[in-house]
Amino acid sequence: MSRQMGDSHRRFLQTMMSNGIISASKAVALHRHCCETHGAHYVADRLDEFINVINAQLQPLFMHIRKGMSEEDGLEYYALVNVTETDITRMASDYADNELELFRKTMDLIVDSERGFASSTDILNCADSLQTKKLKKKETELVLNKFVQDKWLNEKDGDYTLSVRCIVEMEQYMRTIYQDLIKVCHVCHNIALQCQTCENLTCGIKMHFPCVARYFRARSDPRCPECNEFWPHEIPEMQHSQSRSTQNLPSSSKENTAPTSSRRSRRL
Ligand SMILES: [Zn+2]
Ligand SMILES: [Zn+2]
Repeated sequence: MSRQMGDSHRRFLQTMMSNGIISASKAVALHRHCCETHGAHYVADRLDEFINVINAQLQPLFMHIRKGMSEEDGLEYYALVNVTETDITRMASDYADNELELFRKTMDLIVDSERGFASSTDILNCADSLQTKKLKKKETELVLNKFVQDKWLNEKDGDYTLSVRCIVEMEQYMRTIYQDLIKVCHVCHNIALQCQTCENLTCGIKMHFPCVARYFRARSDPRCPECNEFWPHEIPEMQHSQSRSTQNLPSSSKENTAPTSSRRSRRL
């Protein structure tokens, strides 16, 4: 059943094109807004169907609206993805060669790290040994700021992590070049970088912090879901953990149009 795109779909797509990525709660509100503005039939819990209609039209253009989860807060996002350029060359029109090399090295550091982040000190050290053209400290800081502004990296207290946009757009590339280094979360099956790891060496499964919080919420004796060994890490508290899927949002849409101000607990 390939439905035609209407004005409501086109408006939704235009917003996706100008934003690149939006939170699921914003997407829900936008879906409603687009339908109401253009007098289209609106069904509250059919966002994914609505997006599928757009995706069918985007296919010949090698574009796709894809859903991903933030490793930090467990919230879902929708990103407009170019499916032919899944690697860092995707960023080539916005950055110089040495800036792209810095991004590559930053990604190496993050993927290699235990908990999915790279310190600004480590990144600055890389910048000093770039093959394309070295970056000075001040320049490096400016480039890092731009990566954050463009939503490729997140920064908190001088530590850099890969953003949900970066992971959604470059997942295929990361799986190809890092291969065995890339592990998926035992709970949600997305790439796991910021996560906890089972300390049983023969097991070693990974779980995102929000997935850990959700998984152990109702369990008083935390044990690894794979090997049943005691889970020794501190269980993070997630104050506003979102339901697993936006498809299950109530049709009353009680929070759909609410601002997202109080919804993000930044640190675990
Ligand atoms: Zn997960
Ligand atoms: Zn285990």
